[in-house]
Amino acid sequence: MKIGLRGGHSENHKGASSDITGYDEWSQMQELYRNVKTVLEAYGHTVIDCNAYNSSSINDELTQGTSKATNNGVDIFISLHMNAFNGSAQGHECWIFDENRNTIAKDVAKRIAKNFGNHGFKLRPENNGVKGMKQYNKNYHDLKAPIAPAIIVETIFCDSLEDKKIWAPTSWDELARLVVNGIDPNIPLMLNDSKKSKEPSEGYVVTGYLDKQLKNYDGAEVAGAIRYYFKDIDRVYIRSNSIGMWLETQLLPMDKCKEIKELLGSWGKIRC
Ligand SMILES: [Zn+2]
Repeated sequence: MKIGLRGGHSENHKGASSDITGYDEWSQMQELYRNVKTVLEAYGHTVIDCNAYNSSSINDELTQGTSKATNNGVDIFISLHMNAFNGSAQGHECWIFDENRNTIAKDVAKRIAKNFGNHGFKLRPENNGVKGMKQYNKNYHDLKAPIAPAIIVETIFCDSLEDKKIWAPTSWDELARLVVNGIDPNIPLMLNDSKKSKEPSEGYVVTGYLDKQLKNYDGAEVAGAIRYYFKDIDRVYIRSNSIGMWLETQLLPMDKCKEIKELLGSWGKIRC
C-alpha cells in the first residue's frame, strides 16, 4: 500500500501546544510520524512524506501536504494531529470526509479509534454510532483535498494531563502501532509482543522446602526428586536457610523453566 503521511502541521506553524503538559503538537506528531513510517516500511508499505517543511502560511502548509499525496497517487492519506481545548477535554477521535466517498477511510478510522480505546484512551462521544469517530467533515482541507481516502487522526489532547498519563509511558513504537494496525490489520499491535519482550529470557526454578523423610535424621533424600523433576538439568543445588532446605536449578531458558514449573505444580516457583 502507498500511504501519504503527515505529522502535525509544520515547522513554521506548529499547531497546538500546552504549558500544562509541556507538549507541542509539531514535535510530538513528528516523532509519531517517524515511528509510523518505520513500522509501515518494515512491513513492506511505501510511505510518502506529506509534511510541509517550508510553508509560508497555514494554507500553504496544508496544500503542500495534500498535493504531495495526490501527486504521488497514494492509496490513503493519514494526517496525525493533537487536539487542544481547555485542559479538561480528553481522548481520541478520527475524522473522515463522508460515508460514500471513503469506505476504506471509514474502516481504517474505526480500527484506529478502537485501538486507541483498547489502549486506555477515552473515545470521544460517538456520532452516527461509531465511538471514537466524529466521522464526517467536508470542510477540513486534509479531508476534502486529497483524491485518496483521507483520515485526520486526532490522537489525544495536547493539553490533557489525563491523556498524557497514558501517552507518556507508552513507547513510540507501541503508539505508532495503534495507527499502523488500523491501516493494515496484519501488522501486530505491540501489546502482546511487548509483554513477551519484557519477560526475562532466563530464570531458575526453586522447589518448596524439602520434607524430612526419616525420624531422628535431619537430611532429606533428594535423588528421587532430582531424577523426576530435573532429569535433564546439568546442575541442581541444595540450598538452605533457617527454616529448611530446597532445590534450585542453574540458570535456564525461560521455556525450560516453565516446563519444569508445570511438572512441579504448586511446589515450584520460577525466579529471575
Ligand atoms: Zn492539528
